[in-house]
Amino acid sequence: MPANNKKNAFFYFVLEMLKKSGSKMDIKDACKDPEISDKWKHMSEHEKAKYKAMEKTAKPNQKKRTGLGEDLSELERERMREKQFADDMREYITNKVITSRQENRLQYMMFYVIHCNYYYKRIVPERKETEFCPAEICIIECNIQEGIRRVYLQHVTPKIKIGYSAEARTHSDSTHNIPVAAHFGDKTFKEMYEDICKFIMPGKEGTRLPPLFTLRQKLEICSSVTSIMDQLAEAAGEPTDLIRIYSLEDLFASIYNASLDHVATTFEPLHAQIELSKDPYCYVYGIQCDYHTALKGGMPFCSQSFVKRWFFLICDFVCQNLNVVPIQGVHAPPKVPIETSILNSSMKNLTMNDSKRATSSMSDISLKVKQRIAEKNNKLDDEKEISIIMHTRNDINEKLKTQEPVERPLRTPYTRSAGYHQPNVALNQANFPELGQKKRNH
Ligand SMILES: [Zn+2]
Repeated sequence: MPANNKKNAFFYFVLEMLKKSGSKMDIKDACKDPEISDKWKHMSEHEKAKYKAMEKTAKPNQKKRTGLGEDLSELERERMREKQFADDMREYITNKVITSRQENRLQYMMFYVIHCNYYYKRIVPERKETEFCPAEICIIECNIQEGIRRVYLQHVTPKIKIGYSAEARTHSDSTHNIPVAAHFGDKTFKEMYEDICKFIMPGKEGTRLPPLFTLRQKLEICSSVTSIMDQLAEAAGEPTDLIRIYSLEDLFASIYNASLDHVATTFEPLHAQIELSKDPYCYVYGIQCDYHTALKGGMPFCSQSFVKRWFFLICDFVCQNLNVVPIQGVHAPPKVPIETSILNSSMKNLTMNDSKRATSSMSDISLKVKQRIAEKNNKLDDEKEISIIMHTRNDINEKLKTQEPVERPLRTPYTRSAGYHQPNVALNQANFPELGQKKRNH
């Protein structure tokens, strides 16, 4: 069959044969039927002409597309895949939690939570997906009774693709602060994948590895975890669905509901999502990794800090219901006196004396670009003054108030342009001479 899936003359002949005979045989099987093929072979060109005409007039099967040009059937398949994934996930979580509850060991039910930091993301057009360049991966093994049992932490030496350095630096500056020039050894993605498999192996259920839970409703978090885990799996030559990334919101809601003796109103995953987004332990000190402690920056964005505080929040909700006595450092963040040096370094970022420091989210690169633009504009127009306006600096704002407007309108409003008031000029040789000739003076 041709690439555009256009039906040939033989197809129309078989279709007619099936209609006439009233047979319910599948058209594909009928096309392979030796009896029908033989009949077609022995037909004269005159008899075949009718079907050849049908072939010529038939339109090729065109794929239905959306207004954006996307293949509708492909979108439908994707939707079905997502629905199947969501159904499997809910079934898994419900079974796991209900079984643990029935066996009276919900507080010992082990689960794994993951968070990943990245340097930059880029769209891979050929795969129609967004790829995240990993920076930090943290997985915890935990249960409500014992707290966090083990931690898997991996910092990744960045391999930044050409053209993404600025983005990597900007993202790092505004979040985790891990420098783009950092070196964390030469561990390959394959080795990291194997390490993760080993780490979660104790949670193996039958022949399957346990899923990893993360915030699925936070698109940035879920997409980065999925992309990074897919890259590791592909590097190891393993299927990407071997380690499933499931919803922590769903697990949290399910554990909470199961922990209650009498359920008055169901705690939905949406409630879990709202509680998790409140992030009460965001600025707690002492739960971040050693690297971030030494870095003294980007601590709330440390992957280890994320997974730990998510777990502590779940403990806040379910410990009491499961008769687990909350212990500081196990079910809640440890009480660690904050180092004054860290406070000092944070306060330095807040000083307004230096415009570079004042805008902590502004990277060196963006400052350099601003300076370069300012220099360029000064060359073009010496009268124009380029200044970076700091809204927090009153002196500059005051200066701004007293400044004359830099530009004036081209003409006063509600007036017609000068062109309208010009008398009609005749386009003759006198007024509009040919090229190379001067206009005659009257
Ligand atoms: Zn960290």
